[in-house]
Amino acid sequence: MIDFYQEAKELFEFSRMLRRDFHRNPELGFHEYRTAGIVARELSQMGLEVTSGIAETGVVALLEGAKPGPVVLLRFDMDALPVVELNQVEYTSHNPGVMHACGHDGHVAVGITVARMLYEMRAELPGTIKFVFQPAEEGQGGAEKMVEAGVMNDPTPVHTLALHLWNELPVGSACFVPGPLMAGAALFSIMLTGKGGHGAMPQQTIDPIVAAAQIISALQTVISRNVSPVLAGVLSVTSIKAGETFNVIPQTAEMKGTLRYFDPSVKQILLSRFDKIVRTVAAAFDCEVEIKLTDLTPPVVNEPELTNKLGKLAPTIIPSLQINTTFQSMGSEDMAIMMEKVPGCYFLVGSANHEKGLDFGHHHPRFDFDEAALPVAAALMAASAVSLLQG
Ligand SMILES: [Zn+2]
Ligand SMILES: [Zn+2]
Repeated sequence: MIDFYQEAKELFEFSRMLRRDFHRNPELGFHEYRTAGIVARELSQMGLEVTSGIAETGVVALLEGAKPGPVVLLRFDMDALPVVELNQVEYTSHNPGVMHACGHDGHVAVGITVARMLYEMRAELPGTIKFVFQPAEEGQGGAEKMVEAGVMNDPTPVHTLALHLWNELPVGSACFVPGPLMAGAALFSIMLTGKGGHGAMPQQTIDPIVAAAQIISALQTVISRNVSPVLAGVLSVTSIKAGETFNVIPQTAEMKGTLRYFDPSVKQILLSRFDKIVRTVAAAFDCEVEIKLTDLTPPVVNEPELTNKLGKLAPTIIPSLQINTTFQSMGSEDMAIMMEKVPGCYFLVGSANHEKGLDFGHHHPRFDFDEAALPVAAALMAASAVSLLQG
């Protein structure tokens, strides 16, 4: 059997060169023109059939094995974040205010490396690998746009695979978790309208700040009193804007926040209690209320049988690898939208290195990961893809 990890390690310089180039030149969601251009160039130079400009900057490439077989979709996200980078490294962002603070630079590099590894094996491959390089994962709906553009059809995959480099876990580890891995997420905004007036004459006003405070307090009971203690849920108010100065009671107060869940029954409880509390408390304080709720992503739920199989395969590819099968995160990931259409496995590749100071969290201005995770990720992705082709 081919030694995927050895192959990936031999391509380490190539992966690192790509990753550092993407890190130096980060691009925000739906603006990944340079990144997508490099992806398309690399993959078409290898000999893959490449289609660009899907959902603005998405790239799809087909690698046809020499033998007949199924289609497996591998997805890699490409976007950076509006974060000012504080790392002082050789590959610090050259694009002011934009930073690869989630590790998607690594994902693109791993995707290209996997294509190179699998292309060299094409004479042995039974079936087709569909490489999907997706824009705008960071809450902008890139996966949804790619699905709308038909990325799940023509050819239709039987399985989907994706990964994330993960700084909550040490380099040399990986998570293959059967069932729910990442939470479903919705965003909300609440606009309360009272009656503004003089800060010294509250009796002539309807104070939306007091109503907002009561709503925020009452919302804390949804998780503590309504959701079963053995199930997970999040309801966070993350923004409140009201008022400008000390002697004016404002007319309005605006709040924003997020709901998170794994279980559909928890989603229903969160939504119904949220709506009832916000409306009735606002009414009790004579405020008018407007609620906007946006469903962001469903939970990432890994297909259990396939995930267990890949979790058992992983240590045969990298013997020293520590495998975790129970990790869960209330973070969300729009790969869930593709996985709702075609089940598969989303796995995490540990990328933190405490000794080297490479352990800041995702989205932190000093986020960086141990590049030794690149060949681990490439080997696991390539081996998993081949295993799924072989059935
Ligand atoms: Zn992120
Ligand atoms: Zn991410």
